[in-house]
Amino acid sequence: MNLHEYQGKELLAQYGVVIQRGIVAHTPDEAVEAAKKLTEETGTGWHVVKAQVHAGGRGKGGGVKLAKNLDQLKEHATNILGMKLVTPQTSAEGKLVRKILITEDVFYPGETEPSEIYISVLMDRERKCNVIVYSTEGGMDIEDVAHNTPHLIHKEYIDPLAGLQGFQARRIAFNLGMSGVAYKNMVKFIYNLYSAFVGSDASMFEINPCLHASDGKIIAVDAKVDLDENALFRHKDLAALRDTDEEDPTDVEAKSYGLNFVNLDGNVGCMVNGAGLAMATMDIIKLSGGEPANFLDVGGTADAKRVEQAFRIILRNEKVEAILINIFGGIVRCDRVAQGVIDAYKNIGNISVPIIVRLQGTNAVIAKKMIDESGLEVRSAILLKEAAAEVAKVVG
Ligand code: GDP
Ligand code: MN
Repeated sequence: MNLHEYQGKELLAQYGVVIQRGIVAHTPDEAVEAAKKLTEETGTGWHVVKAQVHAGGRGKGGGVKLAKNLDQLKEHATNILGMKLVTPQTSAEGKLVRKILITEDVFYPGETEPSEIYISVLMDRERKCNVIVYSTEGGMDIEDVAHNTPHLIHKEYIDPLAGLQGFQARRIAFNLGMSGVAYKNMVKFIYNLYSAFVGSDASMFEINPCLHASDGKIIAVDAKVDLDENALFRHKDLAALRDTDEEDPTDVEAKSYGLNFVNLDGNVGCMVNGAGLAMATMDIIKLSGGEPANFLDVGGTADAKRVEQAFRIILRNEKVEAILINIFGGIVRCDRVAQGVIDAYKNIGNISVPIIVRLQGTNAVIAKKMIDESGLEVRSAILLKEAAAEVAKVVG
């Protein structure tokens, strides 16, 4: 689950990371109020208006603007709120900006080259450990740096059980060319950042840029945070930060039904119980000449209500030319699933794509008979091979 920049920064601040201070606004007037408040608190005269959407590269798309007075601020706020922000990380259509973050300007005026650092913490699955990725070349062109000059990107691998060691945090600060106060601040920054990553069960924290100011301050100017959804049950406060406006509406609906669903590009929808079986089913679809339109694990209870919800979600995708239902009846009996499919089919009423149902396991033969005798446009199979052949007939 992704967080907005302002939420990520609040989380960082809870762990003692120094952040660029800001206040969220939903209207230009709120933006002006926020700016005045920030001036009182921080003394800053200049502010930055930042679009809050779940996408990076906002600066390049015109979603981050510096304002040197309140008139400019109001103008930027008016322009950015409600815009469809297109960045290198969004679709061509862009993302609607519903809120903005008004921040203090932390790049001191008159400073020739405030240095923008890149720091992220994530998991390295191959090495089975966490890794801090960092570079002195942070800022908006970090992707080019990684592509053209990969030697400028450094990595520090961290044993998840031993945790971040003092020498590792010091090595990072040293490699970033810090000395004196900045060095000390950087070591603390890294510690706190790593604690935030572990403490929130995140899969990624990316701070780009992290500002190294000339007075030695180290400040998180941006925060991109991705939390592990499987751990959200133990972070009720973080789970509440979810912004469904930023998510695909179909994904949101699927989640509300407790369905494990991912939209894909193909033409064969699938409904399966169990993630492993879903993967195998997607392989079978490909082998039959189709392309999976989605991943959908209905979980253990494939009853009529769930099957119906799953049908509706799959059918919303106009590219779907056929639906393959592949259920292994172990705990749930096949005849009950068959009845669920029949009931759901009748309930929805206007299903125009062919449906292939493969039920294997307890009472599979009875289930097949029920489907065959239902009089509906549903083809049944017990063996996966047979189901694949049916899929091939439709889309192959
Ligand atoms: P992103 O483009 O979505 O990654 O958004 P960022 O939050 O990283 O902002 C983009 C760029 O805006 C940064 O790389 C900075 O160069 C610039 N920026 C951000 N905060 C400030 C600030 O306080 N003052 C100034 N002058 N520039 C800033
Ligand atoms: Mn950034």
